[in-house]
Amino acid sequence: MSYVAGRLAAVKPSASMAASMAAKALRATGVDVIDLGLGEPDFPTPPHIAEAAHAAALRGETLYTASAGTPALRAAVAEKFRRENGLDYGPDDIVVANGAKQIIFNALMATLNDGDEAILPAPYFVSYPEMVKLLGGVPVTPICSAEAGFRLTPEVLEAAITPKTKWLFLNAPGNPSGAVYSAAEMQALGAVLAKHPQVLILSDEIYEHILFDGRAFVSFGKACPELKGRTLIVNGVAKAYAMTGWRVGYAAGPAPLIKAMTTVQSQSCTSVAAPMQAAALAALTGPQDCIPVFKAAFERRRDLVVAGVAKIPGLTLPPPEGAFYAYIGCADLIGKRTPKGEVLADDVAVSNYLLAEGHVSSVPGSAYGLSPFFRLSTATADTVLTEAIARIARAVAALRDTE
Ligand code: PMP
Repeated sequence: MSYVAGRLAAVKPSASMAASMAAKALRATGVDVIDLGLGEPDFPTPPHIAEAAHAAALRGETLYTASAGTPALRAAVAEKFRRENGLDYGPDDIVVANGAKQIIFNALMATLNDGDEAILPAPYFVSYPEMVKLLGGVPVTPICSAEAGFRLTPEVLEAAITPKTKWLFLNAPGNPSGAVYSAAEMQALGAVLAKHPQVLILSDEIYEHILFDGRAFVSFGKACPELKGRTLIVNGVAKAYAMTGWRVGYAAGPAPLIKAMTTVQSQSCTSVAAPMQAAALAALTGPQDCIPVFKAAFERRRDLVVAGVAKIPGLTLPPPEGAFYAYIGCADLIGKRTPKGEVLADDVAVSNYLLAEGHVSSVPGSAYGLSPFFRLSTATADTVLTEAIARIARAVAALRDTE
């Protein structure tokens, strides 16, 4: 289509959305499909949060707000960083946007010049490279292998940095791998970054509260305080409070960057909807008891999926340390023949096969920059996950070696 802007040419629609659409299309033909493509908590938003939005609207909080967010919400975000992360930020260091995604988009829009590079350790959240490309930047995607625990090492980071590097993205607990970094591992990365003062750091901490095996969360900002002047901490209410559809994210960082991001926001969407900000305020300042309840459910499901996958020959899944995904290695399935006679050439073929034959929707690892894997979302009922694993086991068992 000739009217589409050139900058969109290299940008792909979200792969997890695409997987979900393929699942819906198959379901529309009458097939009972289990959709483990999209990742969002399956719990309802706690009622006191929904009621806060309702009350705010009735009170007349229905007007534009300050672009960076209401003073009350920004104060609550600052307090959250103090209480939960031991970080000290003032109201001018904080901005609120329509989801962590818009925070990241605003940050890139505010900083990228054409040709600037962003280091996105692979496997990465699918939207990172697409946003970078959309805004004129160049994604640099060093591989963080399963053997390295899907973690960026100082050596790999050093090799990826060039004079054009503008950003390093870190995401822990990570989507899709669930990997986390110890404070020492973050500090080792920090030592490399100290040598390259042109590099900004974006730490996406949206899965902070979904962390397993008794691990305590350490913010990158806490581990590397010497980098505070060029670190943007990204977070939001979507995952912690089962609020994906409310679209509220926030960030803390150096005031000049926050100011530039706020300018982008003020000229694009003005602000987050006022009642949604009231809901986020209630989430951050109200009872926090949903957090351990959600975490326990996600950890139980992680265990269920890890145990199930361990019994399927040809699949590998080191236990994810956090988040709600299983990033399953499928190298041993590549080259196998399906009952219909097709040969599985790559992880896209594996994912398509699992949908067509197993009626389970997943997202191929190629979408996250590391193959051959496929990602299942484990944010769904235990019974559904058990059935999905059984279907995958049957589909894998039906594969044959090629001669
Ligand atoms: N970052 C990561 C790593 C994510 O997985 C997601 C959601 N899938 C987001 C950001 C987006 O969060 P939000 O819903 O707040 O935009």
